[in-house]
Amino acid sequence: MKKYDYLIVGAGLYGAVFAREAMDRGKKVLVIDRRPHIAGNVYTETVEGIHVHKYGAHIFHTNDENVWKYVCRFATFNRFTNSPVANYHGELYSLPFNMYTFNKMWGVVTPEEAAAKIEEQRREAGITEPKNLEEQAISLVGTDIYEKLIKGYTEKQWGRPCTELPAFIIKRLPVRLTFDNNYFNAAFQGIPMGGYTRLVANLLEGADVSLGTDFFAMKAQGALPAEHVLYTGPIDAYFDHRLGTLEYRSVRFETEILDIPNFQGNAAVNYTDRETPWTRIIEHKWFEFGRDDEGRDIPKTIISREYSSEWRKGDEPYYPVNDEKNNALYQSYKELADKEQGVIFGGRLGEYKYYDMDAVIAAALKKVGEVL
Ligand code: UDP
Repeated sequence: MKKYDYLIVGAGLYGAVFAREAMDRGKKVLVIDRRPHIAGNVYTETVEGIHVHKYGAHIFHTNDENVWKYVCRFATFNRFTNSPVANYHGELYSLPFNMYTFNKMWGVVTPEEAAAKIEEQRREAGITEPKNLEEQAISLVGTDIYEKLIKGYTEKQWGRPCTELPAFIIKRLPVRLTFDNNYFNAAFQGIPMGGYTRLVANLLEGADVSLGTDFFAMKAQGALPAEHVLYTGPIDAYFDHRLGTLEYRSVRFETEILDIPNFQGNAAVNYTDRETPWTRIIEHKWFEFGRDDEGRDIPKTIISREYSSEWRKGDEPYYPVNDEKNNALYQSYKELADKEQGVIFGGRLGEYKYYDMDAVIAAALKKVGEVL
């Protein structure tokens, strides 16, 4: 008899939800993580009373009422609504693309005028069936917005020309003929009060957790302490890259504490020109309206500049590059994974999928339903 039913590799959202559900069904779990902290890339660290999103901004949003009810068992969410601002060489535009954006770009006032302008630019570009991100973007919002707000940002973010990127990436962003600056079309949205780390700690309550513990080192030492494994790391790393290396994008953050109360007046400002080397600046305090856990105004501020880069061995992987080549390689790894007895692969890295947080939670809940 092994000590645990499940060894859960990775203390991020997928692993934590799976752990919670397994425990609630009477299973014994050991959760390990290579890093010295729980919560994976949603980890937040409190500095100067501000919950700093250490691995990039996370704004919880979902249309799935079950997922919303589920997360609300583990955290109270504030009323934050994501409305990033785009900065193109000092010109500011509202995001996502909406009537404020169209008015600033073209001086149009009515939805009819905006729709006509987009249609005119789409017709001039002659795109009937968009085959890549560039064509998809132009057919959604026209060439002016593509040139100023999409092209530079996307090429920095992905390190590839927009003509070589899949169209679905840009479909994440809504296009609206209304004056609505909400970045998401989601029924439910907010930031967990007290930070994401607390949310994940609540999910993991009662679990044995071992941090700074590397799965591969553990495996090399001999028999694992559990009957089954849930693996949420990169799928290609699990198989020692034997079929080749999947591509990921990584992100580097330059974080500064500033002795001023307000740097940019918004949580997220995207730098959409090609020349500015960072993609965006996050000012963490505005996710919580500039206040600390006791409701006091915070006199300082913390900002993070995000620089996107191609993932290299030793970097943290953040985004799978879901183009045809990589998806095909992933399929080959998935065939190996399906044959791997007693091991489940899950999450953004385990399934090589550009999952949002709510989709990760839904996937983990579904998996639990299937295996337990
Ligand atoms: N995007 C853009 N301009 C922006 C913001 C986003 O062109 O100002 C494009 C870019 O290609 C990006 C995609 O939209 O990769 C999805 O953006 P999202 O904000 O969903 O990315 P995430 O928050 O997951 O990094």
